[in-house]
Amino acid sequence: MHINQQQLDLVNQRIQAMCAARSFYGRRFIEQGIAGVESEADFLALPFSEKKDLREAYPLGIMSVPEDQIVRMHSSSGTTGKPVVIPYTARDVEDWAIQFARCYEMAGVTKKDRVQIMTGYGLWTAGVGFQAGCERLGAMAIPMGPGNTEKQLRMMIDMESTVLCATSSYALLLAEEIGKRGIRDQLKIKKCILGSERMSDMMRQTIEEKLAVEIYDIYGMTEIYGPGIGINCSHETGIHYWDDFLYIEIINPDTGEVLPDGEWGELVITTLRKEGAPLIRFRTHDLSRIIPEKCSCGASWPRIDSIRGRSDDMVKIKGVNFFPAQIEEILQTFPEVSSEYQIKISHLDGKDTMRLYVETNGSVDFLDLASRIAARVKSRIGFTPLVKVVEIGVLPRSEKKTARVVDMRYQ
Ligand code: ZN
Repeated sequence: MHINQQQLDLVNQRIQAMCAARSFYGRRFIEQGIAGVESEADFLALPFSEKKDLREAYPLGIMSVPEDQIVRMHSSSGTTGKPVVIPYTARDVEDWAIQFARCYEMAGVTKKDRVQIMTGYGLWTAGVGFQAGCERLGAMAIPMGPGNTEKQLRMMIDMESTVLCATSSYALLLAEEIGKRGIRDQLKIKKCILGSERMSDMMRQTIEEKLAVEIYDIYGMTEIYGPGIGINCSHETGIHYWDDFLYIEIINPDTGEVLPDGEWGELVITTLRKEGAPLIRFRTHDLSRIIPEKCSCGASWPRIDSIRGRSDDMVKIKGVNFFPAQIEEILQTFPEVSSEYQIKISHLDGKDTMRLYVETNGSVDFLDLASRIAARVKSRIGFTPLVKVVEIGVLPRSEKKTARVVDMRYQ
C-alpha cells in the first residue's frame, strides 16, 4: 500500500505542528533537519517512533499543541516502568468517536441497539471509547464498567441489551455464567464486541458457541487513540481500518525494511490527523500483514490480518527470521492436519534444527505428509524443518500461540 498525496500532506501538517511545539519528536525532527516530506521516499526515510520514546517524554513531552487545547488525558497500564500518557484535543476526542462509530457500523450495530459496555473506565481508553462511539452512532449506551457479574446479568435482562462490549476474558466468564444459570433465552444479545486484549481462536469459538452471538474483535491501543481504529466485518476476513486517519506499513522487525503487501511483519502506524500527540511511523510490535485483495463485504476500507502475536515472538533459525504465525499459515493449507502443532528449536552438531510436530488421523501416510509439509516450509520460508507427524490428541493443548514454540537453544 503506497502513501498517497493527501496522506503526505497530512504527515507534513503533523511534522510542522510537532516542530512548532518543540515537542519531543519536534526537537528530534529539527535536530535531524527534517521539515517535511515531499514523496514516499522521503516518508520512508523518517525515523520510527517507539513506546520507549513516550516513556522518555513522560509526562507531557509529546504534547504537540499549546496546553489550552488539551481537553483530556489517557494513560496505558504501565506494568513496567513509567506509564505512557497521551494528551487529546477536542478534535482528537471527536475523531476517535467517529472511528469508533464506524466500528459499530461495521459490526452491524444500529440506533436501535442497546449497548452494554463492560470495559474499564478512567484513565483507560476502553470504556469511554466504547461509549463515545456508541453515542455518536446514536445507539443506547449502558455504561456499566467491568465486574459485578450479578448486576451485569440483571441489567442485561432488564434493559434487553442487544450488544455486549467487554474484554474477551470477561466475555468468556459471562458466557460460562449464563450457561450455568440457563438464562440465555431471557437475553436479547446478538453481538459481542471484544477488545483490549488478544483473543485465541479457541476462546473466540467458546464465547461464540456458548452465547450464540456474532463476535467482533476491535483493534487499537492507547498510543493511537485507543480501541476503535479497526474491526473485523461479518465476513471475518481480517480487520478493516480507517486510512483517512491512519497510514499503516508492515516492516521486517529486524531490519526495519518495509515489506510488500501480503507479507507478515510488524505493524507500523502513522496518525494522520492526531493533534495532541501525533505519532509518525510508530512501531506497535503487533504482527500482521496488509491483505491486498478487496474484502468480500464490499467495503472499500483497507484491511490488515488479525493480529498474530508480537514481533518479540520472532524466531531466527539458520539465519532466517520467521514467526510461528507463518508456520500456522502453511499448516492451514493442509486440510489433513489438526489445528494443533508444536515447534521445537534446538542446536545440534553446530547447527540450528527445527522440529515441527503436527497431528493427523490414521488414514494419512505420515511420511509422505511430513515431506510435503517440509517442502512447503522450505519454499515459503527458506529452511527445511524436520517434520514429525503424530496421531490426533498427542500434542499438548494450549490457548497461547507462543507456548507452541519451544526454543531449547536458550534453556
Ligand atoms: Zn469486510
